[in-house]
This record gives sequence, structure tokens and C-alpha cells, in this order.
Amino acid sequence: MREDTKALQVRGAAQSGTASQERGASRTGEASQARSAPRTGAAPQVRSAAQAKTASQARPSQQSAASEEKIRSQKASALSAGKQEESRSPEKTSGKKKKKASLPEEVIVLDHVVKSYSTGAPALNGISLKVKRGEFVFIVGDSGSGKSTLIKLLLRELLPTEGGITVNGTNVVRLRRRKIPKFRRGIGVVFQDFRLLKDRNVYDNVAFAQLIIQAKARDIRKNVPMMLSLVGLAGKYKAKPKQLSGGEQQRVALARALVNNPPILLADEPTGNLDPKNSWEIMKLLEEINEKGTTVLVVTHNREIVNAMKKRVITMKKGVIVSDEEQGAYIDED
Ligand code: ADP
Ligand code: MG
Repeated sequence: MREDTKALQVRGAAQSGTASQERGASRTGEASQARSAPRTGAAPQVRSAAQAKTASQARPSQQSAASEEKIRSQKASALSAGKQEESRSPEKTSGKKKKKASLPEEVIVLDHVVKSYSTGAPALNGISLKVKRGEFVFIVGDSGSGKSTLIKLLLRELLPTEGGITVNGTNVVRLRRRKIPKFRRGIGVVFQDFRLLKDRNVYDNVAFAQLIIQAKARDIRKNVPMMLSLVGLAGKYKAKPKQLSGGEQQRVALARALVNNPPILLADEPTGNLDPKNSWEIMKLLEEINEKGTTVLVVTHNREIVNAMKKRVITMKKGVIVSDEEQGAYIDED
């Protein structure tokens, strides 16, 4: 899948435009918005989809609301960053570029990370953790143990109160705001609630990710069907989300998260809304994606699946890691 670095860079550039943009509304303003309006993503998502459509024919131009302005500027920087990657490669030999050219062996590193919200005990209280390229990792733990906070830190939706975080070779703590969209291109994300564009069909939901980064029409026509086949939805490309089962919707979300070939996939309770059969199908897909080279980190409560899959299992409790086992099992700490 990831034959060479160039392909990775170019398509990677496409990628997280995806994630960051379509979750755009909540993302743009960073953490506070993301937290305060997790479900209000719907309306802005629809708007940004419309913009993306427009972008394929003409420049997006007429936004009025401030939030749209933000989305647009984020998109613009994502786009220009993508272009720079392509055009700069021959002469650009700085450290930064080298870092991109060869992804580090450890794609996720947390070093004594503490995250305190304004109220209560710290959500994360001294987390150190390394994930190697190509690993498949489950993160389990009671509700409130800090799993989603960890995911948000990896996406740079939040900054840690203390400690260091490196993702895909990028020092997330020192990352400048304007570089965030580009950074997020290296991370595909799926959530429990799918977060699809409700008024768009399956094909457009996935194509959206590529439109954001102005992928070539030819590439979109190739990549979208390829991803839909991978997730077993080639026959449903015209369906709208509400015509799909939960499992199918999550597969669309997965196709969208992966269409630009990010090196890392994060999934925060991806089977939380699914029945056991669909949960298994999604987990098997995640495994397949991992076998093709993507580093996969899955937050889940699904004890049966975790126990059956024999992957690395990190167990969190009250903001600390209480166990980290290769081929682990779901531990009940209580
Ligand atoms: P999990 O995903 O494991 O259920 P979270 O990371 O969502 O846990 O939450 C960890 C802790 O941080 C919980 O005690 C939760 O109440 C708290 N928390 C999460 N988000 C916020 C926030 N935006 N403001 C204040 N506290 C928060
Ligand atoms: Mg959570």
C-alpha cells in the first residue's frame, strides 16, 4: 500500500485534511470547541462539504460566519502545505524534510504526560508510552480513565499540561498552530458516532477527504472505489448514511479516514454503537489495515474482541497506565 515515500507524502497530504476538515468545525477552534460541541459537528460539516464540492470546480469564496472563515483558512493552509510538499522535494534538504521522508521507528511517543482540565484530578497523570510503526494497540479502561483525552492529545486537539508527545516524528507540544492541519494529515481517525456527512452519499463522503486536499480527479476516481472495496461497500456507493446500518456507516468512516493513506489510524470506541457481529467486522478490518502497514490504535470496551485478538493491550485507570501487555487481555481492575 505504501510503496514509496513520495506516494506516502503526496497521498498523506490528502489524508488528514480528511480527518481534520470534516471534523473541521469542531477541530478548527481546537479543544474547547471540540469538547463543547461534539455533536454540533453536523451542520458545519455539511457546509464544509459543500465548500469542498465547490472547490473541485472553482475556488471556495463566499463564507460569512467566522467559523467558516476558520475552516477556510485551515483548508487553505492544508492545501498550500500539500503543494509545498510536492514542489519542494528536490531542493529541500533541511532536517524537517528528512524527518518526513523517513518516518521514525516509533510513531507515537508519550513521555511523562500530564493533562489537567480546569476542574478535578488530572485526566492523565504521568503517561509514558511508545508505539512502533506497524503496531496494533488496544487501549482499554473504565469510563473516565483518560482514553479519549489521550487520543485528543495525539491529534493535537489538546496540549498536555506537562510532558512530551511526538507523533509521526513531530513534536506535538511545540507544533505551531498553523502547522496543525498538515500534521493531522498523517493521522486517520474514526469515532463511535461515525460523523458522516448526512446529506452526502457514501462515495462523496469518502471523496470529500480527497477534495479537501485537491487530489486530482483521476486519483479520486481511482482511490475512492478502491477504499470502498476494501471496506466491502463498493455496491453501496450511492447510498446515503441513513440508508446504511451502523456497521456500514462505520466502514464508510473508515474508508474516509484511510483514503489518503495515513501512517497512523486512531479509533476511539469505533464499535461502541455496533452489535457484536458488526463490531467483529470492523475490528477485522482494522486488523487487515494494520497488516497492510498502518499503525493502529484502538480505544475499546469490547472485552470479547480484545481477548480474542491477542494484540498489545494498554490498560488505563484514573489517568495512569496500569498494565501494558503484548498479546494482552482485557483486565478488570475493579
Ligand atoms: P475516557 O475516554 O477514558 O472515558 P476521558 O479522557 O474522556 O476518559 O476523561 C478523563 C477524565 O477527564 C474524566 O474524569 C473526565 O470527566 C475528564 N474530562 C474529560 N474532558 C474534560 C473537559 N473538557 N473538561 C473537564 N474535564 C474533562
Ligand atoms: Mg472516551
